[in-house]
Amino acid sequence: MRGGAGGGQGAGLPAETVAVVFERLSRHMPGRTADAKGPKDQPDPFRSVISCLLSAQSRDANTAAAVTALFALATTAEAMLALPEAEIARAIRPCGLYNMKAKNILRLCRHLVDELGGRVPETREGLMRLPGIGRKCADIVLSFAFDRNVIAVDTHVHRVANRIGLTTARTADETARQLETRAPGWAQRDGHFWLIQFGKAICTARRPRCETCFLADLCRFYSTTP
Ligand code: SF4
Repeated sequence: MRGGAGGGQGAGLPAETVAVVFERLSRHMPGRTADAKGPKDQPDPFRSVISCLLSAQSRDANTAAAVTALFALATTAEAMLALPEAEIARAIRPCGLYNMKAKNILRLCRHLVDELGGRVPETREGLMRLPGIGRKCADIVLSFAFDRNVIAVDTHVHRVANRIGLTTARTADETARQLETRAPGWAQRDGHFWLIQFGKAICTARRPRCETCFLADLCRFYSTTP
């Protein structure tokens, strides 16, 4: 059985092969209409950005518990600022790093209210200026809350893209930058969904199912691993 993390080193696949990979993914994996769970499913940009902040280094179930408890207290930046930091920290305890995250939530809400009239920015640059928000969260909010054609890169997308050879990146942010230019335009809308489902169902972290994988003949990892 082939295994290991793979990726990040050597040459990436040629552009025409990258297009074939995405074409096959589009035929085999569910796209944007699939049931997308967790912090991405919030009903408005504010809750989306806060949920993503809470999801850092947290399992989906723990994030969901923290999200439910926090939004039972407040669902706007103004209302959040009226809460004591300790109460926010208590509510979000299930998702870990709760003291730091509570501080960032209040700093983020203060920034939104004082600098932006309470509105969540609709650009990656604006989102990344918010306390606690990096490229991954910015792209998730752009994709899910603002319906932009952006391939947000989480741990699954990062692993899969670099194993296959779609990208040659060491970090998730670098993978996101490379996918922005290497993935065909038509794949930008659903690419996140195809890759994340593929990473959960087939190209899993510990035991990728290479022997039955529909990308094995194209995959850089498969062709270079004994
Ligand atoms: S052959 Fe398929 S499952 Fe195996 S590493 Fe490549 S993409 Fe992942």
